[in-house]
Amino acid sequence: MKRASIYITLLLLAFTGAMVTSALWTYKLSMQAAMGNLKTAATNMAVNLDFTLNNLGLRRYYFQKLVSSGDWEAVAFLALYNRDSEVLLHSNINLIGLRMKDPHIQRVFATGIPMDHFMTLGTGEKVYVLDYPLHYHREGKLRTEVLRIALHTYPAMGVVRKARFQLTLSLAATGVLWILTFLLIFYIRRSVRMERQLAEKERLALLGEMAAILAHEIRNPIGSIKGFAQLLMEKKEDDSPEREFLQTMVEECIRLEKLVRDLLHYAREERLRLSTFLLKELVEECVKQSEGHREDIKLAIEISDNLTITSDRDKLKQILLNLIQNSQEAMKQEGTLTIRAHEKGDKIVLEIQDQGKGMTPEVRERIFQPFFTTKSQGTGLGMAIVKKLTEQLEGQIHVESSYGQGSVFRLILPKKVNPQ
Ligand code: ADP
Ligand code: MG
Repeated sequence: MKRASIYITLLLLAFTGAMVTSALWTYKLSMQAAMGNLKTAATNMAVNLDFTLNNLGLRRYYFQKLVSSGDWEAVAFLALYNRDSEVLLHSNINLIGLRMKDPHIQRVFATGIPMDHFMTLGTGEKVYVLDYPLHYHREGKLRTEVLRIALHTYPAMGVVRKARFQLTLSLAATGVLWILTFLLIFYIRRSVRMERQLAEKERLALLGEMAAILAHEIRNPIGSIKGFAQLLMEKKEDDSPEREFLQTMVEECIRLEKLVRDLLHYAREERLRLSTFLLKELVEECVKQSEGHREDIKLAIEISDNLTITSDRDKLKQILLNLIQNSQEAMKQEGTLTIRAHEKGDKIVLEIQDQGKGMTPEVRERIFQPFFTTKSQGTGLGMAIVKKLTEQLEGQIHVESSYGQGSVFRLILPKKVNPQ
């Protein structure tokens, strides 16, 4: 699934790249086409005017009439300048006779070739301007003036506007595609995860049922073996070598009994028996009872004396006993076992922290699986029981652990479990 997501993302990236490049390309081409159109239109007008002015002479109102007649679309203004920057003709007749210094016009006089550029009018509109050298006969002499043709860009830029719209549209479409794809990946991942969890739950339920049946069948024979071994042991002399064998038999039987007890705990479905009690008292009771109480482990209980909880006392005790025992077993050297609790909204957060050997991420992944153990004498059922009982108490359990440094088991329990 992870790999599929990466492929989909890469594909999407490639698609986005192609889409944006093609839209940008279209935009660039349309810009060039628009510029070409403006230039052709302006040059045609210039050639036309060159001819007419040479034939008709400079008539004061000629440009004004041309622009206002509307015969030539898109003309913003027309003007004719002489070398001294004097306005000889203009479509706005008020400007005729004025001097207007303009570096563009000077350059056309200097080079003798037409040049185009954009300029902004007093109205704020940006227009296309062609400055065209015009050769003109006057009083028998050939003079050169500069004809300026300014065109509105709006009509020619229509194609550019379309291209820009297309660019925006394709960007938006790609954005939507990205969002949809990520939503899809998210939902597929979630459903795969949920399916896996469900399968795991079913597997565990089946395992529990089998374990319960097996445990019942085994319990009585173990009891008899242990009983007879003890009986035989009592009959032997103290220094008899067989006594040692019988002792081992009894010890192994005790171990098997623990396994069977754990199995039954794990498999048994018991109704909750709720009561309200002091949490600190229960914790102290568990610590006292936990097997293998050790001198080298310092104990710190940080729970306020009057913190109460309404829950199933026996089940919570089972949970704590298992957690405390694991913590003690994890601490080979001396260290502190801290048990603390605080209220958080309608929950109680209960933490059991040890300074033991901690867990690798691989072990951490598997601790709740029944029969998973890293201990030679372990049953691997402790944490499975803890998980099951915690869920029954409507709580959650989280584990933080770093290898070689210790672990924290965090139980989040409701302050008040709802009666079933
Ligand atoms: P068991 O104690 O019989 O091995 P559990 O189900 O209680 O079975 O624990 C399973 C495994 O989880 C342990 O074998 C151990 O590797 C790991 N584990 C549990 N608690 C701790 C802890 N506090 N520190 C380190 N490892 C732990
Ligand atoms: Mg254990």
